[in-house]
Amino acid sequence: MSAIAGNIARIRSGLPAGVTLLAVSKFHPVEALREAYDAGQRVFGENRVQELLAKQPLLPPDIEWHLIGTLQTNKVKYIAPFIHTIQSIDSPALLEEVDRQAAKCNRSLRVLLEIHIAAEASKHGFSPDECRTLLRNGPADACPHIRIGGLMGMASFTEDREQVRQEFRSLRTLFDELKPLAGDAFNTLSMGMSGDYPVALEEGSTLIRIGASIFGERRL
Ligand SMILES: *Cc1c(COP(=O)(O)O)cnc(C)c1O
Repeated sequence: MSAIAGNIARIRSGLPAGVTLLAVSKFHPVEALREAYDAGQRVFGENRVQELLAKQPLLPPDIEWHLIGTLQTNKVKYIAPFIHTIQSIDSPALLEEVDRQAAKCNRSLRVLLEIHIAAEASKHGFSPDECRTLLRNGPADACPHIRIGGLMGMASFTEDREQVRQEFRSLRTLFDELKPLAGDAFNTLSMGMSGDYPVALEEGSTLIRIGASIFGERRL
């Protein structure tokens, strides 16, 4: 078994039923993604459009691609034909552009709303209140080519486990509050990375985004 296959097997064996493992393959070569694919991995995440566009045509078509990094509105058109889920929706303007481009491709596109839960100002996303307002205004009517599939968040980069736990817990609470407003497609709570996913799982994550613990440290 390759190191990558072993890592995937180890992480999977600790996942509760119903939790999705997203392999974050940014900065890793196509060969590494193929190893993961051969180990049965089908859900991959990239954080830059350019890198995603370079890799996607070289890999099998049954991969479910997620975008997890900041997305500029002028780049939505490049990924709209094939992307499975855009996890990093951080403004109403971006949501509208995704709707427009999905319409052009005759697709319905799945998105997650990125919520700013970390103490750090550098992280992107809606505040909980902005997110409530957005969902109360019924984006399903304004953006018929979009399905809001849930929320995504990143905890603070800190050694303080208790702070990380509280941030994940606040995201779970918001998810539970918004679920009745948001409709049936709203079923994914994306939280947890290599360094903090066990805590995220304890706090109710349904999708973990794992890079380093699958592929090793990134070669920057
Ligand atoms: C890079 C990245 C990850 C994965 O981080 P690791 O620490 O390598 O597991 C998860 N989510 C987002 C948004 C990322 O940019």
